[in-house]
Amino acid sequence: MTETHFRVEIDSDGIALATWDMPGRSMNVVTTEVIAELSDIVERVAGDAAIKGCVVTSGKESFSGGADLTMLQGLGLEYARLAREEGEEEAMRFFFEESRKLSLVYRRLETCGKPFAAAVHGTCLGGAFELALACHYRVLSSEDATRVGLPEIKVGLFPGAGGTQRVPRLMQTGDALQMLFRGEQIRALMAKNMGLAHEVAKRDEIVEKAKSWIRAGGSPVAPWDQPKFKAPSGKVYSPGGMMIWPPANAIYRRETHDNYPAAKAILQSVYEGLQLPMDLALRVESRYFAQILRSKEAAAMIRTLFLSKGELEKGARRPAGEAATSLKTVGIVGAGFMGAGVAYVTAQAGLDVILVDRDQEAADKGKSYSHKLMTDQINKGRAKSAEREALLGRITATPDYGALAACDLVIEAVFEDPKVKAEVIARVEAAIRPDCIFASNTSTLPISGLAQASRRPEAFIGIHFFSPVEKMLLVEIINGSQTGERALATALDYVRAIRKTPIVVGDARGFFANRCVGAYLLEGHLMLAEGIPPAMIENLARMAGMPVGPLSLNDEVGIDLALRVVRATKAQVGEGAVNPDQEQILSVMVEREGRLGRKNAKGFYDYPDKGQGPKRLWPDLGSVGGFPQAPDEIDRGEVKHRLLVVQALEAARTVEEGVVTDPREADVGSVLGFGFAPFTGGALSYIDGMGATAFVALARRLEAKHGPRFAPPRILVDMAERGTTFYRSEPARTAA
Ligand code: NAD
Repeated sequence: MTETHFRVEIDSDGIALATWDMPGRSMNVVTTEVIAELSDIVERVAGDAAIKGCVVTSGKESFSGGADLTMLQGLGLEYARLAREEGEEEAMRFFFEESRKLSLVYRRLETCGKPFAAAVHGTCLGGAFELALACHYRVLSSEDATRVGLPEIKVGLFPGAGGTQRVPRLMQTGDALQMLFRGEQIRALMAKNMGLAHEVAKRDEIVEKAKSWIRAGGSPVAPWDQPKFKAPSGKVYSPGGMMIWPPANAIYRRETHDNYPAAKAILQSVYEGLQLPMDLALRVESRYFAQILRSKEAAAMIRTLFLSKGELEKGARRPAGEAATSLKTVGIVGAGFMGAGVAYVTAQAGLDVILVDRDQEAADKGKSYSHKLMTDQINKGRAKSAEREALLGRITATPDYGALAACDLVIEAVFEDPKVKAEVIARVEAAIRPDCIFASNTSTLPISGLAQASRRPEAFIGIHFFSPVEKMLLVEIINGSQTGERALATALDYVRAIRKTPIVVGDARGFFANRCVGAYLLEGHLMLAEGIPPAMIENLARMAGMPVGPLSLNDEVGIDLALRVVRATKAQVGEGAVNPDQEQILSVMVEREGRLGRKNAKGFYDYPDKGQGPKRLWPDLGSVGGFPQAPDEIDRGEVKHRLLVVQALEAARTVEEGVVTDPREADVGSVLGFGFAPFTGGALSYIDGMGATAFVALARRLEAKHGPRFAPPRILVDMAERGTTFYRSEPARTAA
């Protein structure tokens, strides 16, 4: 037998070492071929009396990131084809059998009669960690890079190769559920403490430790296959079980609002599986896995959060002809709130930073933010002081524009004032090299307008960060009318270097994300004006899938900023461009009540001092809004729809206007930029998932009741008429 993806060597003690090392890939992934090869290896180990046992390890820098999601997507497509051509029953049979192949191979490994041990260094996630869990012994490398976990839930999936059965047999049910729900990556020592690994050793010793365990007579029988096995939390139907399961249901509802079928399936799979012997339990798990794989939510989330996100990060929008840029030094002008954050993420990516502000003190203050963030990391045990010193060593804080001569890219984050920006552009351009690219972090000023102050508009571009910079994953790149390809390529290379996700958007007011966020905030304000109780607005927003309600979000952004934007829009676009009810609410909050948001601890919420409890809705908020409506008479479904539909309509308008040209960018941008209900796959996938016809009908109903902001744009009406979607410009073929 010859392997392609594994190398198998048998040592003089008869211990096989299977080294997973897929040719032509930097990372191992579980593919159909890998599953077949692993199955062959298991049979060989099981069938050869001269082989005592087997250690599985990786020949790459990391163990493996898990299953190839494109393989799972392919399964879904094959299912759809079979359902069309041979009927639902045949398609289901195929799907169930195919989707449980990996689980069966792992179970065979676990029960083949020979001991298997996993020697893991680096990332070992999802289907790869399920392989390790099926091995009888797990040794993890002690290095920082080692991380294990089951992150499937993050893309709407569910660990379908034993994860939902082996984890709750290794640890207390509550802890197991938490691990499966959160999908976090766990470091080696923590994994050992949780019972997920047996041993932690130096990287170059893990294989030897695994072999020693086999040599010493390691048992080829998993704990749960031993006759007297008891799950750590005991039986489901027991007094102990009754302490766990009712609250688990409540926590599931609180955390997901029943929007994530994968989370529910995890709960069901663990609950049912723990009452069954392992083989049957795995069969139950496989049924849930097949069901989740076919769910609309998993398809949408895999596409947006895995495939599209990955494609955008790898440069889907990068101009093909531009050679790779070699960014070494980045200048940041304006070391305020945003500039300080940009300096931190840039230095963290290993780039040198020249941080300029009006005087030394202001520049130093910006740099001190990096000191603070690194110190927080050190206090949490996530960084060492040497790393902080190295990072700070990469940031030069200075008032001297001349220092920018060293830069390959300069990003300005000075006051949002065209005059100040024009002055800064002139001073920067006098200092930089001709090949240096200039970027503005403006959030409201058109890039083409700012570029008028530039002598080199082809090298001028927008790089729009979101706050807080160190946490937000999305960056909008804005092409001005004269921006050249070199500038675009440089901006994309920079965003890649700092490991964020770029979307390239057109130069229109609010670009993409802030337009949708603006629509969401407006809807919250108008609901308040209508007399919908604030707590209902906030809770229904979260139940619709948003991470925070619109009032809470506005507190973070600043109510005064919202008022300023409304007033500026009125001045620039005209009276008709703003809603008077919204302006009234904002003006009362800011100008009458002095409530600016979290920044002065007084907004739609009150923010008690530290230790004095969580934020609470301001009790007098009713006096700001309209005559209170009776909660029982409010159509909760409609409130939820309004909050998502306004954002989706705005996203569709950006496509119609050409601000966004690729649906992947609107979807990824909406989930990463403002947390648009992730289970939908993003603002456009939300429309596609409902179908344009149903969405247009819904929008028209809302338009009739709440006004023209719900009028569906032409693009959606056309899609409804032609039966197309944002991702498919041809009408779907109907089943024969
Ligand atoms: P800020 O007021 O916190 O910081 C601005 C900094 O620029 C100050 O430190 C100021 O001293 C400095 N500055 C002003 N004139 C200067 C000059 N001539 N030379 C050097 N430095 C000068 O403002 P901010 O919130 O960081 O916003 C900066 C930019 O980022 C704005 O264009 C804003 O629209 C944009 N932005 C802000 C956010 C946000 O959430 N605050 C989000 C995205 C983009």
